[in-house]
This record gives sequence, structure tokens and C-alpha cells, in this order.
Amino acid sequence: MTQPTGTIGILALQGGFEAHAKLLTGLGANVREVRTAADLAGISGLVLPGGESTTMMLGIERESLAAPLAEFVGSGLPVLATCAGMIILDDAHLNVLNVSCDRNAYGGQVHSFEADITVDGAGDDAFRGVFIRAPRLTRTGADVETLATHDGVPVAVREDRVFAMSFHPELTDDDRIHRIFLEMVPVTNVTDINRKKAA
Ligand code: GLN
Repeated sequence: MTQPTGTIGILALQGGFEAHAKLLTGLGANVREVRTAADLAGISGLVLPGGESTTMMLGIERESLAAPLAEFVGSGLPVLATCAGMIILDDAHLNVLNVSCDRNAYGGQVHSFEADITVDGAGDDAFRGVFIRAPRLTRTGADVETLATHDGVPVAVREDRVFAMSFHPELTDDDRIHRIFLEMVPVTNVTDINRKKAA
């Protein structure tokens, strides 16, 4: 795999950002925790972790991050959104991914479960999907590709370079989804070029 030189931002207002950071660092990526709009400057990819979407949205409002996050998602750079991260992209929140989500539709914490799923683009081997108070996708727009289903319902989708899923790939040792995401990160971008020029 080409090693990305661009830094990956991980929204770190709340939730499971550390597990993503560990996995991505293990794959050779540079990561930066994102808490303010300034933290988004120059990053080449963005991860929106799982957690509690209501709390995350409050943090996003407090930090005036809604517009900068939406702008980043619209920039075409890769985004990986898991669980609550997918909820905040949907049509009822930041409205930058053409899907609707039903929060906690799989039940509460006691109804969390694991299931083997096949993810398009990640090879034939099943991926162990960890679902924790997971959102259910109730609508996917025409431009949204379904990458995996569980019981006939989409659980992983992609719109352009935005990957979103109901489950938590960062909570397994299986790094295939994070690799697919990293492979989409441009090896260099305008910010890197500018930095090299200035050096
Ligand atoms: N149920 C949570 C929410 O609605 C999401 C759960 C998760 O991210 N594991 O925000």
C-alpha cells in the first residue's frame, strides 16, 4: 500500500476516536485529533467516530464546526464515518450524505451484537461487524452505493469518497476498511506541496 503523507483528522469531541487513531497509526498514517475548525486545516482525510451523536452535535455547534465539516466532506477528500459518525452526516444532521438513519434502531446497549458481513471491495472473507446501539439506514439515495448488508438492510455505504457504516471496524483487528480508506488519501495535496515549497 502507498503510504499516505497527508495527515488524517479524527473528530475528537466525544466518542471512540482513540481506537481509530491507534488503528490508523498502526497502518503508518499521521493522525490529528480535530476539536476546532483550525484543526481541519491541511488534513487529507477525516474520520468521524462512533459515540453519542446528540453529544457530538452539541460539540459541533459549540465549536461552530458544522459548516467547516460539511465543507470538508464536500471537498472530495476521503471520509470514514462509523456509527454515530454516520448519523451526523445524514439528512437530519449535517446533510452531506444522502441517507436517512434511524438511531438506536437495533435496540439499546444490551442488544448490541456482532455479525459476519461481506463488504464490497474488502475481499471475500467475512468482516466481523460490531454493532453497538447501531443506527439503521432507512433510506439511501440513488448516488449512494451499498457495500454491505445485514438481514437485507444496508450497513455500509459509500457516496463518492465518503464511507459510512452502522458498525465499528475500529473495534476489531481487521484493518481492511481502514486500508481502503487510506488508499483513497492523496499521497500529496496542495497543502503538502505548499509546505514543501515553503521549506
Ligand atoms: N446510538 C448512538 C447514537 O445515536 C450511536 C452508537 C454508536 O456510535 N456506537 O448516537
